[in-house]
Amino acid sequence: MNRLQRTLAAPALFRGAGLHGGGSSILTVLPAPEDHGRVLRVDGRDLPCRLDRVVGTERCTILGDGEVRVATVEHVLAAAAGLGLDNLVLEIQGEEVPVMDGSALPFVQGFLQAGVVEQSASIQPLCLGQPLFVAQGDALVVALPAENAAFEAAIHFTHPLVGAQHFCFRPEQDEFVSSLAPARTFGFWEEVQALLERGLARGGDFSNALVIGGPGGFSSPPRFPDEPVRHKVLDLVGDLALLERPLQARVLAVRAGHRLHLELARKILKEGAHVRMV
Ligand SMILES: [Zn+2]
Repeated sequence: MNRLQRTLAAPALFRGAGLHGGGSSILTVLPAPEDHGRVLRVDGRDLPCRLDRVVGTERCTILGDGEVRVATVEHVLAAAAGLGLDNLVLEIQGEEVPVMDGSALPFVQGFLQAGVVEQSASIQPLCLGQPLFVAQGDALVVALPAENAAFEAAIHFTHPLVGAQHFCFRPEQDEFVSSLAPARTFGFWEEVQALLERGLARGGDFSNALVIGGPGGFSSPPRFPDEPVRHKVLDLVGDLALLERPLQARVLAVRAGHRLHLELARKILKEGAHVRMV
């Protein structure tokens, strides 16, 4: 469905540690004119938030160009896509987007506080011409042509606190702010310990991720009974934001992660999509 493009009414500022590197970062998100798109600004250089700028997918999505790299872009991009903010300049001081609480909620709140404004040009969604899928091992992402967009994920972990979970987010009927944005990054206690030993996840203390399986079960009360799979859907929405247009399709990710999400997005651009002109 066509809708008017949107941007912020005023800048929004976020600061904090990165999840993986742990260094302190400042992110200032600025309004941008229509048809500008979402662009990262690093040291005065602009880097479009676009699939061909993805330079890494280990545990997060990393955009870069030459010497410049910015990690963990997926949650702020999910917040932007979820609120339909098409035109933004994301000015970053640091090598990673601040992890905040591990979800997209602080970004959503900051954006809503700054104000969302409609612009005069419309944006056409990307529609699929055919079903597509990508798979690796027992992980799979499928995209089907659909009248109404739906983004869903299914996971299965042997850990009894997670087990099998499935969640479907339908942008046209579900509330992004309450049902998806608050779902936090999750990890398992043993895994977090191993990451800390390897020097990764330095910013990932118990305030910016849901850690499962430690002495108390959960590191903090889950925000939803199925918070892990909701976070998977949030990551999917953030990664698909790199398509630069709303995707009017049904996408199901089974045990997938950033690498497979982005492989599907590339396949969508290469083989199966058209912009719906109305
Ligand atoms: Zn995530």
